[in-house]
Amino acid sequence: MARIVIVGGGTAGLAVAARLTRAGQSDITIIEPSERHFYQPLWTLVGGGVVSREKTVRPEARYIPRGVRWVRDAVAELAPERRTVTTKSGSTIDYDFLVVASGLEMDWEKIPGLKDALARDGVSTNYLYDLTPKTWQAISSFRGGVALFHMPGTPIKCPGAPQKIMYLAADHFRRKGISRDAQVIYGSATPSIYGVPQFAAVLNGVLERYSIDARFNHDLVEIHPEKKEAVFRKTNSPEGEQVVIRYDLMHVAPPQRAPEFVRKSPLADPEKREGWLKVDKHTLRNPDYPEIFALGDVGNTPNAKTGAAAARQAPVVVENLLAALAGKEAVARYDGYIACPIVTAYGKMLLCEADYTGKPAPSFPFLDTFHERYDMWLLKRYGLPWAYWNFILRGRSVPFLHAREVAQLAAARAERQYIHV
Ligand SMILES: Cc1cc2nc3c(=O)[nH]c(=O)nc-3n(C[C@H](O)[C@H](O)[C@H](O)COP(=O)(O)OP(=O)(O)OC[C@H]3O[C@@H](n4cnc5c(N)ncnc54)[C@H](O)[C@@H]3O)c2cc1C
Repeated sequence: MARIVIVGGGTAGLAVAARLTRAGQSDITIIEPSERHFYQPLWTLVGGGVVSREKTVRPEARYIPRGVRWVRDAVAELAPERRTVTTKSGSTIDYDFLVVASGLEMDWEKIPGLKDALARDGVSTNYLYDLTPKTWQAISSFRGGVALFHMPGTPIKCPGAPQKIMYLAADHFRRKGISRDAQVIYGSATPSIYGVPQFAAVLNGVLERYSIDARFNHDLVEIHPEKKEAVFRKTNSPEGEQVVIRYDLMHVAPPQRAPEFVRKSPLADPEKREGWLKVDKHTLRNPDYPEIFALGDVGNTPNAKTGAAAARQAPVVVENLLAALAGKEAVARYDGYIACPIVTAYGKMLLCEADYTGKPAPSFPFLDTFHERYDMWLLKRYGLPWAYWNFILRGRSVPFLHAREVAQLAAARAERQYIHV
């Protein structure tokens, strides 16, 4: 038995721990400071006034697999050459294999005025559990004016989240009969509404339906909360032209980056300013330290950071870690699958799924998921939370979502029979 240390007990860390336990590993340590575990994808619906925030949180202890040691502390330093991690309280923990699943951190300071703005009425973010009810308060008490929704220039978790809450707000304004008095603006650093053309076409239709003024290539650089002004830099202007937008309501998605202990470690990808942890995008193994794996939001895989990706990566990491333990080659491959369930109205959702090819990768071959659908809304509202708590965190594949994953792993396992390092 090897000593396996998992940093972070969020979506990715718990899924890996549960699968390793099921595979018979008995010396597993999770380092996780939080007593609470959050199902973050529902935060959009908290901000939209559909569910209460309490529905998104459960005790972490309930999901730590039996037999796994839980260190309630945060990692402060990684020393891969010594195979140790040091925690904030000063303990040093040795490992044979390390799985980094610490998620990411918000870079509040990157936008001057952002923190101050969030302390005021009418400005909120669904990226903080505590503020999700404030989002709904701002939307439901809005009587007219400019409602500004922001998307930053750094990679963020669930890059669809900033537009999801905008569509819910626009739909709410329509239902309340105040659409004519509301000017909804999307200020986004991205060049288009979505990276996959088939889904972008649908979402452009949604923007049109709500008469949303989408301003792409607009990177938020500063907020003047006292004047309710947001300053954007036009990323496609060689002179760095700036645009000031006055707002009455604003939803912000903060810039994000890898946690500090990753950024300052030798594992950080030097080509990424945000310091994501370097891994092979298929095997999820660090190229310099093969006993280290990373998955979830912290990794530098070139795709969207989503819980769906973390769920799909977990079995790949486990399979490859078990192969390494057996002295065999890592042959399980993550194909880049991500899913972004974009709610486009109360009762409508567009399930955007893609992989590294940049092409759609639908999970439901018998359904046309290239349109907004009511059954997909039900999936988001009820099906995915149920699958999350009962399957993903328990280390089991979700039968209706992961047929492809099961097939891929079976193939990898078969291949591993013949490959010895
Ligand atoms: C508003 C919003 C909407 C979203 N919607 C969707 C959606 O619809 N679909 C979807 O698939 N995804 C969605 N996501 C994204 C999804 O929640 C994340 O991608 C997913 O949780 C990533 O899993 P993770 O384990 O990498 O990170 P997390 O689940 O965030 O877990 C990281 C864990 O590491 C711990 N940690 C942090 N620092 C340290 C440290 N130094 N030492 C030890 N532990 C540490 C944290 O306490 C945390 O428990 C959404 C996220 C948000 C915020």
